[in-house]
Amino acid sequence: MSTTTETTGSAATLERYASSLLGVFGAPKLALVRGQGSYVWDADGRRYLDLLGGIAVNCLGHAHPGVAEALARQAGTLIHTSNFFTTPQQVELAERLLAVAQAPAGSAVFFANSGSEANEAAIKLARRTGRPGLLAAEDAFHGRTCGAVSLTHKPAYREPFLPLLPGVLPHVPFGDAQALRAAFAEHGDRLGALFLEPVQGEAGVVPAPEGYLRLARDLTREHGALLVLDEVQSGIGRTGRWFAHQESGVVPDAITVAKGLGGGMPIGALVTMGPEVTGLLTAGQHGTTFGGNPLACAAGLAVLRTIESQGVLDRVRETSAWFAEALAGCAEQVTEVRAAGLLVGITLSGPFAARAAQLAQEEGFIVNPVRPDTLRLAPSLLATREELGSFVDALPGLLARAAREG
Ligand SMILES: *Cc1c(COP(=O)(O)O)cnc(C)c1O
Repeated sequence: MSTTTETTGSAATLERYASSLLGVFGAPKLALVRGQGSYVWDADGRRYLDLLGGIAVNCLGHAHPGVAEALARQAGTLIHTSNFFTTPQQVELAERLLAVAQAPAGSAVFFANSGSEANEAAIKLARRTGRPGLLAAEDAFHGRTCGAVSLTHKPAYREPFLPLLPGVLPHVPFGDAQALRAAFAEHGDRLGALFLEPVQGEAGVVPAPEGYLRLARDLTREHGALLVLDEVQSGIGRTGRWFAHQESGVVPDAITVAKGLGGGMPIGALVTMGPEVTGLLTAGQHGTTFGGNPLACAAGLAVLRTIESQGVLDRVRETSAWFAEALAGCAEQVTEVRAAGLLVGITLSGPFAARAAQLAQEEGFIVNPVRPDTLRLAPSLLATREELGSFVDALPGLLARAAREG
């Protein structure tokens, strides 16, 4: 017997959420029902400029026709096959991913369903070097599964789950050349891999300083460890390049990808660079049921094709330069703007980012208070100057109020 009365609208949905969903995310801020381009609508019909883009996932905005049509077509053709079989979509996406990663001959792709899973695959790759040591940076975020969270720095994410993965060394301060050299001097011969984000997203959008990735490359090569670059947040055009590390000219041993790759569909990938690294994982040593399914791969193909055919990388670089300058000069409470393409961190003059985000939402803007004093933005890569400009216009008033109210 079902006596459920369908209650809709934001308040009712949020109430039902509280009594049916595990509380790990806290209370959701809104109940959303629809999206179009840079905008989303809540269950009460209110419109918001989505400057977070599902945390750098909806890279072409919401309901992009290229992605939607590719998904609809593939859903009506073939959704899943298992990895006993392949599909043209899977092979083509792997080929295109290798091309945009500028991967050398002998490189290869493993498809997963999330960023954490991509990093889990990279951890297993590192284990196959025969060296148990894993090193990551302070403020790093590599995911929430048990392996990935062992590399994530934030104690609140790790400590309730001890003991985690053996072999993980104390995190090194991000961007500190001397500390990295010291860690390699002490542990280099036991190190399987160094994991780094070229731009630390969860830390508040902090790019690796000039020369840091090069140093990481030199040290890992010298000591026979893998260099794994976590491009889960910074990859797929987010920074105005296909991958953020390409700016540095460094060629890593492995790249992990997820968020933007499916334009909203869950998909992740590990890219192994060159035959030697690729050969570390052989038949039977890793697997996944859903990973690489044709539906997710069709979405990934639509994303890569759109970025390519519409000159999105150039567009991101142009928009970013303008946006960063406009944000930096717009309000006295803005003390620093760090823009890695359209991944933007705005540091405020005090710990009122949460209040600012709440006020922004009330005025129809979705932003993320990634740290107490920092707002993070990761809008659609197709966001227009007019759309972004409406936020720049609103920000001074929002920040003045947030600073007053705390
Ligand atoms: C989001 C993120 C992850 C984890 O991805 P999930 O899809 O949430 O598992 C890993 N690394 C970085 C840099 C991320 O931003």
